[in-house]
Amino acid sequence: MSAPEIKKSILDHLTYSIGRPPSLASKQDYYKALALTVRDRLQQHWVETVQAYLEQDLKVACYLSAEFLMGPHLGNNLLNLGIENEVRQAVKEMGCELDELLAEEEEPGLGNGGLGRLAACYMDSLATLERLALGYGIRYEFGIFDQEIRDGWQCEITDKWLRSGNPWEIAKPEITYYVNFGGHTEYYRDEAGAERIRWVPDRAVKGMAYDTPIQGYRVNTCNTLRLWSAEACESFDFQAFNTGDYYGAVDDKVISETITKVLYPNDEPEIGKRLRLLQQYFFVSCSLQDMLRLLDAQGQPTQRFPEKFAVQLNDTHPSIGVAELMRLLVDERRLSWEDAWDITVLTFGYTNHTLLPEALETWPLPLFRELLPRHLEIIYEINARFLASVRETHHQDDEHVKRLSLIDENGEKRIRMAHLACVGSHAINGVAALHSELLKRSVLKDFYELWPERFNNKTNGVTPRRFMALANPKLSELITRTIGDGWITHTEELRMLEPFSEDAAFRKEWRLVKQSNKQQLADYILKQTGIELDPSWMFDVQVKRIHEYKRQHLNILHVITLYNRLKRDPKLAIAPRAFIFGGKAAPGYFIAKRIIKLINAVGEVVNNDPDVNKKLRVAFVPNFNVQNGQLIYPAADLSEQISMAGKEASGTGNMKFTLNGALTIGTLDGANVEIRDEVGEENFFLFGLTTEETLRLQQQGYRPYAYVEGNSELAEAIRLIASGHFSHGDTEVFRPLVDNLCQSDPFLVFADYADYIACQDKVAGVWKDPENWTRMSILNTARAGKFSSDRAIREYCDEIWDVRPVPIMIKDKT
Ligand SMILES: *Cc1c(COP(=O)(O)O)cnc(C)c1O
Repeated sequence: MSAPEIKKSILDHLTYSIGRPPSLASKQDYYKALALTVRDRLQQHWVETVQAYLEQDLKVACYLSAEFLMGPHLGNNLLNLGIENEVRQAVKEMGCELDELLAEEEEPGLGNGGLGRLAACYMDSLATLERLALGYGIRYEFGIFDQEIRDGWQCEITDKWLRSGNPWEIAKPEITYYVNFGGHTEYYRDEAGAERIRWVPDRAVKGMAYDTPIQGYRVNTCNTLRLWSAEACESFDFQAFNTGDYYGAVDDKVISETITKVLYPNDEPEIGKRLRLLQQYFFVSCSLQDMLRLLDAQGQPTQRFPEKFAVQLNDTHPSIGVAELMRLLVDERRLSWEDAWDITVLTFGYTNHTLLPEALETWPLPLFRELLPRHLEIIYEINARFLASVRETHHQDDEHVKRLSLIDENGEKRIRMAHLACVGSHAINGVAALHSELLKRSVLKDFYELWPERFNNKTNGVTPRRFMALANPKLSELITRTIGDGWITHTEELRMLEPFSEDAAFRKEWRLVKQSNKQQLADYILKQTGIELDPSWMFDVQVKRIHEYKRQHLNILHVITLYNRLKRDPKLAIAPRAFIFGGKAAPGYFIAKRIIKLINAVGEVVNNDPDVNKKLRVAFVPNFNVQNGQLIYPAADLSEQISMAGKEASGTGNMKFTLNGALTIGTLDGANVEIRDEVGEENFFLFGLTTEETLRLQQQGYRPYAYVEGNSELAEAIRLIASGHFSHGDTEVFRPLVDNLCQSDPFLVFADYADYIACQDKVAGVWKDPENWTRMSILNTARAGKFSSDRAIREYCDEIWDVRPVPIMIKDKT
C-alpha cells in the first residue's frame, strides 16, 4: 500500500463508486472515496478470516449486545492497518488534509455510554488477539440523539447518521431471517406421532444483515460486526401466515419498519417499553438463527453448537436468547428438552452490568404473552424444572423459591430477565472486582448460593489503540520513543516508563504533550461554546452520562464552594482550574436535565465574573461522544470518578483517563478500587464513604439536612442555588434539585461533600508542585496496563469461552 497506489484507488472510487470528477468532488466525496479504498484493503483480510472459519473446525465468540458504540471507523482502520502516513501523503497530493477528511465521518452512535463502548472495545481486542468473533446487534436508523445546549438546557436532535450513507457497512440481502411475533400456540402430532407444540404467530418481520469489518491491529484477522435491520415482509409472506387482511398487512409493514428505527436513549434504568422488547427479541432471534445456519453450512450436527459458538449476553437485553435457543432446538430442530437445555447452558455466558435494583430488567407478563406466547410457555417450563430441582436438591423453603423464580409474583406478574440469564448460562460475571463481589451479596445472592461455581469477575478494559495510539498521538510517540511500541498490544510494558518518572527531561516532555493536548481541547471548546480556557490551568474533567448516582452535582458544589471562597476574598491564592463537564441525560430524566442546566448556569455566572474568572472557569462540552472523547481524555489533568460507592459497576472512562496520564479523584467504587491498587494509593486522590458505610448510614436513617446544618460552606452553596443567584433570580428552576438533596439525597451527595472538598484542597496542593504532579501522572500511565481490553478479552476467551487464537494467513492470489 504505497501512497501512489492509494491515490489511484481514491481517484478510481471517486469516478466509479461515487460518480463525481475530482474537480467537482466535495470533502465528503473524498472522505467516502478514501473510506472505500480502506475498505478494499480490509476486504482481503475479511475474506481470509471467513475462509479460515469455514475451512477449520474453530470456535467463534459471539458477542450479543443491544448496543455497539463504535466511534468513527476511518482513523482506527488506518491505525490498525498501519497505513496512516501513506494515506496522509496520498490525500495531500490531491489537495486534501487527512484530518479534514477524518472530520467528515458521522459517528455511528449506536449506544448510550459505557455498556455500548465496552462492546466496541471488545470487538477491537478480539480481532487484535486473533480470535474469531462475531458482534451481533441492531442497526438503529437513528442512534443516540445529538445533544445541543440552548440557554443552558439540553436539546435532543435526531441522529441521522446514515444521511450521507455508510461506506463501512455491506448490506447482505442474502442473509435474512424471519422473526415472528404474537399469535398463539397449539398442539399437533408430528409424522412419528409424537405430541409437539407449534407457534402460530400473527406477524412476521424480516431481519437483514449489515456487516462491518473489524480489523485487528497489525494482524490479518478481520472479524465481523453484524447488525440487523428490520424490513417489511413481502405481501406473499403474509399469506403464509394466513393473515389475509390487507390493512393488517400494511399496519404490520409500519410496525416492522419501526423495530430498528431508534435506539432507546436510556442508560441504566430500562424503560420497559413494548417496542424495546420487540427490538431485543428481533436481534437475538436473527443472531441465533444465523449461528444455526452457519453450523448447517459446515455440515455440523446441532449437538456441536456449544463447541462452535460461545454466546455472551451483554447485560440482560439479549437474555431472551435463552428461551429462543430452546425454541429453535426443541420446536424447530426437535431435540429433547434435556438435550436442548444442556446445549443452551453450555452456550451462554451472562455479564451483569448493574447493581441498581431499579435497573434490573423485568417485563410484564401480559405483554410477554401477547408478543411471545411460545417463549412464555418455555420460560414457564424452564422455571418449573428449575424450581423443582431447587426444592429437591437444596431443600429450599417457599420464600427462597419465590425469590429465585423467573416470575416475580409480587403485584403485577413480571418476567425477571436477569434470572432467566442466570439459569440459562454456565458463567455469570460482574465487570469489576468490587461489583462481582457485591453481586454475590445483593441482586444475585440467591443464585450465588445455588451455583457459586458459575460466578466470576471480568474487570472491564478499554482498547489502547483507539484511546491512546489514535486519540493521543503525541503521548504515544513519546512513549514509543522511550520504551518501544510493544505497549500498544502489551500494555503491561508501560511499566517500563516507571523509572522515567524520575527523569526531569522526560517529565518536561510529558508536560509538553499534555499542554499541547489541552491547547487542542481548549480550541475545540472555544469553537463549540465560546468559552475560553487557559491550557496552563488544571483541567478538571467529568465526562459521562448524567446520572444522580454519578454525582455531577457533587462536582458543581465544589465549583460553587470555590466561587464563594473567591467572592469572600478575591485575592485568595487558589490554583486556577477549568472545570470541564460533558454528557447526555436521558430525555425523560427530569433531575439529570436540571443538573445540566445547573452546570451551565453556574458556568455563566463564574465565567463572567471578573472577581473569579481569572482562577475559575466552567465549560460544558455539548454532545459528548466517542469522537470528542478522543480529544477530551488525553487533555485531562484530573479525572472525576465520584459516584456513590457501590453504584458504578465498573466505569471505563476512569480507565481511559488513567491510561492518558490523568490523576483520579474518586470513591472506592467500580474499577476505581483496582485502579488505585495498581497506581498506588499515593498516586490517587481517594475520598468518600465506602460501600459498607453507605449501607450503614442508610440503614440508620440518613438525614441529609443535618449535613447542611453542620457545614457552613455546604449551607452557603445550597442557599446560593436556592436563592436564584445562578438563575437570574428564578428560585423555581433548581428547587426540585435542592429539595431532592435536602430531603432525600438518595446518593449521599451531602454525606460525602466535606470529604470531597477536603480532598480537592489536597489536589490543589499537589498541583502547585508540577514536577511531583508529572511524576504521579507518568506513574498512572505506567501502571494502568491492566485496564486494556486485551487483558479482559484474554480472560473471557480463556476462562469462559474457550476461544483460541487463530493466525490468519493471506494467500497470494496470483
Ligand atoms: C468511555 C465512554 C463512556 C463511559 O464513561 P464512564 O465514565 O465509564 O461512565 C460513555 N460514553 C462515551 C462516549 C465513552 O467513550
